[in-house]
Amino acid sequence: MKITELTGIQFDTEDKGTALIVVGSVERHGDHLPLGTDGIIPKYIVEKVAAELNLLVLPPIWYGSCKSMRNFPGTFDIDPDALSKYVRSVMLEANRNGVRLLVVINGHGGNSVPISMAARDISSKTDLSIIVLDWWKELGTGVAGTFSAPGHAGEDETSAMLAINEESVKMKYAKMHDAVFPKFRFYSRALDLKLYGIALTGDARKATKEKGEVLLKAVVQDLVKLIKEAQGLIKF
Ligand SMILES: [Zn+2]
Repeated sequence: MKITELTGIQFDTEDKGTALIVVGSVERHGDHLPLGTDGIIPKYIVEKVAAELNLLVLPPIWYGSCKSMRNFPGTFDIDPDALSKYVRSVMLEANRNGVRLLVVINGHGGNSVPISMAARDISSKTDLSIIVLDWWKELGTGVAGTFSAPGHAGEDETSAMLAINEESVKMKYAKMHDAVFPKFRFYSRALDLKLYGIALTGDARKATKEKGEVLLKAVVQDLVKLIKEAQGLIKF
């Protein structure tokens, strides 16, 4: 159930032990995908899983830290420290309202560090346990290998979006942009400009609705399993 749709009386009696939250981005995704893609995909995943396990869903934090894509129109690049602090606050308030396991489904690479820093901090100071997942890297890995390469607005993200809302994807603008990332952590504006030349990495033209459906099904199954495992580990 979505917390925003519960009345006060309903909230009082609901099981609030485990809650899910999305962190996304408002960011250019080539010319063919919605700017909200990084929130839309995790929101779909979270709602499916919450329905299956009867869990609480908190509203998404849609703005993210988007340094690599900040030069493209449509990108809102939030300061990572501000994001991390905001996420910390939301975590604290979730805990104060009865949540003991918070599952954060992240849809955007630039958010990973700010969220993880918040999770380390809050979990050490409260009884809130926190799972942080980059959905495209850590869920549905069994089928992720069938895609040419995981990419920003590439085959995997585009396929997932086709499966969620076909009309929102403009396939006639889908392109290919081969980007080879270094195997080490390299922070460089020069490299970002080169790698993200058209706000896309990978081959979006290969995306299909069917591939997206297979991917999302696997992602949802993995997340259900993982949450059950986490609940067992902290036993409440
Ligand atoms: Zn994305």
